[in-house]
Amino acid sequence: MDLHDLTYWQNKAATLDIGQQAFINGEFVDAKNGATFESINPAMGVKLADVAACQQEDIDLAVAAARTSFDSGLWSRMHPRDRKKRLLNLAGLIEQHREELALLETLDMGKPIGDALLYDLPETANCFAWYAEAIDKQYDEIAPTGADVLATITREPVGVVAAVVPWNYPLMIGAWKAAAALAVGNSVILKPAEQSSLSALRLAALAAQADIPDGVFNVVPGMGAVAGKALGLHADVDCISFTGSTATGKRFMEYSGQSNLKRIWLECGGKSPHIVFEDCPDLDKAAQAVAIGIFSNQGEVCIAGSRLYVQESIYDVFMNKVTACARRMHPGNPLDPKSNMGAMVDERQMRKVLSYIEDGIRQGAQLRLGGQQVHFDTGGYFIEPTIFDCDRQNLSIVSEEIFGPVLAAQKFNTEAQAIALANDSPYGLGSGVWTANLGRAHRMSRQLRAGLVWVNCYFDGDITVPFGGVKQSGFGRDKSLHALDKYSDLKTTWFSLGSS
Ligand code: NAD
Repeated sequence: MDLHDLTYWQNKAATLDIGQQAFINGEFVDAKNGATFESINPAMGVKLADVAACQQEDIDLAVAAARTSFDSGLWSRMHPRDRKKRLLNLAGLIEQHREELALLETLDMGKPIGDALLYDLPETANCFAWYAEAIDKQYDEIAPTGADVLATITREPVGVVAAVVPWNYPLMIGAWKAAAALAVGNSVILKPAEQSSLSALRLAALAAQADIPDGVFNVVPGMGAVAGKALGLHADVDCISFTGSTATGKRFMEYSGQSNLKRIWLECGGKSPHIVFEDCPDLDKAAQAVAIGIFSNQGEVCIAGSRLYVQESIYDVFMNKVTACARRMHPGNPLDPKSNMGAMVDERQMRKVLSYIEDGIRQGAQLRLGGQQVHFDTGGYFIEPTIFDCDRQNLSIVSEEIFGPVLAAQKFNTEAQAIALANDSPYGLGSGVWTANLGRAHRMSRQLRAGLVWVNCYFDGDITVPFGGVKQSGFGRDKSLHALDKYSDLKTTWFSLGSS
């Protein structure tokens, strides 16, 4: 048996121990009122687990535990080299348990096991290791004041940080937030999405095994409108680090205003443009990147290149290449290591995507490929790669985030037109440009209103560089040393030195 074998993963899945309780103050517990919600395997449409549905009283307990642990100083004032050791332990345990964690991601949210194992898990482990290694190398500052004073500027943890995350990369996005916040010395409450809570609960057990003290890392599964809202409105939460839809992001701004003015950091939706000029250095490579950029993870990617703009002179040739690449992407059993697309996260998301496809057809876009639900016999929620040729911006498939495997392609003529089309969106997350002209690459990079620009590549990234958007894609950045700013306060201390 080996990792490249479907039966290996099926057998492993059959014997997997699935944790279903919340993790509060170092203990796995049910919701106080016993409430649960069903976690569904979207590849089969069957129940995987009944997960604790945290309510206001459970959130109150988690916040109290986080506050007590923070105030105790056990973690917040621990020597950075000791926090580093424990976070490195955690990174090691994630690495050691990567198969089990990848399997939980795949069963719970439908992503291909190969992707979970190759991308999500290494990135999650590396994220904890990277922030662990970074934190004992941070220095504070002394201001250039006069000789009679000393003014220090020191970085301090903000206190209780709640990380509220979406379902598409549950562990990885949870790690981007939790690792940076923990490294600075905060106590963290992680609220996974209700569609994909299981890996976060396993992470909690590993955190305890890594000697992260009780109350410092808590996981509270539950409904967004109950558990998420309770965190957003809580008077003793100092910071919310949120990733999810723009609509929910706006709610968190309101929660903050209605409660304690907690700081809010938002990584929200996207409708990222992918632009291909006629001087593209490698059309085959670009076509492959366009297909992967919209169809991998079933299109459930915030930075998915869902709007494609192709210069008119190469439109037909290039679209044929993209279509050929898309035909090689098959939604299949997520447990099969050969599948390069899996199931949509749940029936609701599948219906939403199918209704956008119907809108596209009704509004006059030309369906070039796909458009159908497939694998009905499995009981799961699969949609094939779908490509539309479009002739205007005001189609809902061009202007709205679908969060599924649907590509809306259009022609353009000039560079100025490409920029105008690309920037014609309320979002500003990712963007891609393919050109051999260095000057054009720089001009495009400067003028695209997006947090991320890829030139002659797409999706590339690393923990060393910031990730996030502008406009209604949010503000603040995950990853890199810049993320530490979200979880720190700057303190100025002014020492009068007197005279000798
Ligand atoms: P969502 O906004 O529905 O949910 C995100 C989280 O917020 C979940 O934990 C959910 O339980 C919680 N939530 C939902 N309603 C809430 C409410 N009323 N009050 C408080 N909390 C609430 O988003 P989703 O459907 O889970 O994820 C898809 C969205 O996430 C897409 O828009 C996608 O672009 C975005 N996303 C953005 C990034 C990024 O880095 N910018 C990354 C991944 C996903």
